[in-house]
Amino acid sequence: MTQTYERVALIGLGLIASSMFWAMKRAGAARHVTGYARSSETRDTARRIGLCDQICDTAIEAVKDADLVVLAVPVGVMGHVAAEIGPHLKPGATITDVGSVKRQVIDDVSPHVPETVHFVPAHPLAGTEHSGPESGFATLFDNRWCLIVPSENSDTRAVETLEAFWRALGSNVDVMDPDHHDLVLAVTSHCPHLIAYTMVGVADDLRRVTDSEVIKYSAAGFRDFTRIAASDPTMWRDVFLMNKDATLEILGRFTEELFALQRAIRQGDGDLLHDYFTRTRAIRRGIIEAGQDTAAADFGRSR
Ligand code: NAP
Repeated sequence: MTQTYERVALIGLGLIASSMFWAMKRAGAARHVTGYARSSETRDTARRIGLCDQICDTAIEAVKDADLVVLAVPVGVMGHVAAEIGPHLKPGATITDVGSVKRQVIDDVSPHVPETVHFVPAHPLAGTEHSGPESGFATLFDNRWCLIVPSENSDTRAVETLEAFWRALGSNVDVMDPDHHDLVLAVTSHCPHLIAYTMVGVADDLRRVTDSEVIKYSAAGFRDFTRIAASDPTMWRDVFLMNKDATLEILGRFTEELFALQRAIRQGDGDLLHDYFTRTRAIRRGIIEAGQDTAAADFGRSR
């Protein structure tokens, strides 16, 4: 048992919050966990499946005695939720978030955090294409990175306790600056999602290939794209709107590379294609060696 907080409040009860709850229970990381989601439907589901020790009907009630408050809502509404709960946070408490974008979330949330409360932003690099309170599971964060993004003024003890909390949930922890975080995630997560959305959209538009052919003869590459493109539309709309500069920069570079490969194909430049694919293959090996994926070709279908 590694209890790091007495009372934790989860605001938003989707994939990430529900996985955090099951991981907290597994580790004994908190004694009492309250939860709140916007819709009564989600709150009822949470009660039915035993998610959280107590589900509250308002966010204010959920956070009132909490030592740690976790904002686990889409990044576009973090600021609104912080404005609502800010005046009701317990002095000495820590507020954190799990948003996939950091700079804009910090700018939106910070003005609503009272001086007596510590704001320590974070981002667990773990997820699936599923969403909602029933999609969570205790092992989601095992051996995955959680990036903590404190400001220069963050209280050292509050940062260390949050790090210990994420370790108890199974994560490896690293500290990163918000702008660097947003650039790294644009490369590793945000732009790949946009490319997957685009490719699935192209297949859908291509009337010379029927829908049933796309589904029936779906090859591994395309199946991976469809899995990623099934991710929650609200979450991903917000990610692109809120990480605009970094995603536009990486998309600009991506387009240049795509044109270079397009030209190589047109000119029959096999050497260029072979060299390029050799370089990218090494990156895949690096990801497996770093423990971020397995070599098994199950394309995410095991979950
Ligand atoms: P999710 O499964 O779609 O759940 C979102 C939750 O937020 C739902 O419980 C929803 O309530 C609630 N919510 C939405 N708008 C709200 C509002 N205005 N006020 C209060 N609650 C509201 O989302 P998720 O995948 O857990 O993602 C949550 C956060 O984690 C996002 O910021 C995302 O960027 C980040 N994240 C996601 C992943 C991933 O792969 N999914 C990975 C790392 C980080 P209702 O059900 O009542 O609508």
